[in-house]
Amino acid sequence: MDTLHGLDDLHAWRGGTFVPTMGALHKGHCDLIRLGRACDGPLIVSIFVNPRQFAPSEDLATYPRTLDADLQAAADAGADAVFLPTESDIYPTGHAIDCPPLPAVARAPRLEDGSRPHFFTGVCTVVARLFDLLSPKRAIFGEKDWQQLQVIKAMVEADPDRFPIEILPCPTRREPDGLAMSSRNVHLSPAHRHRALALHRSLELARSATDSAAAEALMRGHLEASDLAIDYAVVRNATTLEASEQPLPPLRALIAARLGDVRLIDNAAL
Ligand code: AMP
Repeated sequence: MDTLHGLDDLHAWRGGTFVPTMGALHKGHCDLIRLGRACDGPLIVSIFVNPRQFAPSEDLATYPRTLDADLQAAADAGADAVFLPTESDIYPTGHAIDCPPLPAVARAPRLEDGSRPHFFTGVCTVVARLFDLLSPKRAIFGEKDWQQLQVIKAMVEADPDRFPIEILPCPTRREPDGLAMSSRNVHLSPAHRHRALALHRSLELARSATDSAAAEALMRGHLEASDLAIDYAVVRNATTLEASEQPLPPLRALIAARLGDVRLIDNAAL
């Protein structure tokens, strides 16, 4: 596996499959890489902790960084190359690296966009920049970050000339007890790790509900009983994610909740 520093060697990797990450790779990331391995052409993974998607109050400084283990995991999962840009590769001094127009699904739902107003500007800026640098044929994103997946799909669909890229989704990888894998799970104390199961359990309860309102009530009730601070626990149309009393199918249940300093998200089809 090649390790790419700087922008000079990238042209050899254009037109392949691309898996963008922030590192601290776990089995969920490896599923994305293995899905890419099953596609034709070269497979390139990027590791870049993007400062623009963190607000000053958020966890940029403490975001887990495990480069040696990441390189081993990416190689084991079948990556041909790992791109390790510096901040000045992505945001060169004196060059405006702007955000493409934010699609409605990044502004209207009041989900991640409501809780983290800077977030999708940062994500779309870095993903567009990486797409411009790597010109991939396809890129793979996890369903774990469901709104992000819809935002990237919409961004690409809005500008097919700039982004002639197929976006492939990859299902959420979970721990055996159901907790969605996340790089941030390492920050959960043992007690919080146990209470974090309430997200997955709430989604299971939502699946047993007769309608969207009942599903939302069941999720909120269980999260509150488990003493999680809820950012949102909602049922939405899976693509637009717009708020509606009777969202049109296909439906997606989405949760964001906080346990101490750790913010967790999860989602499921209903
Ligand atoms: P991150 O490094 O957290 O920015 O995530 C990089 C990619 O991995 C994103 O497309 C995420 O949606 C995806 N991802 C993160 N956690 C999981 C998981 N548990 N299962 C599947 N994909 C995931």
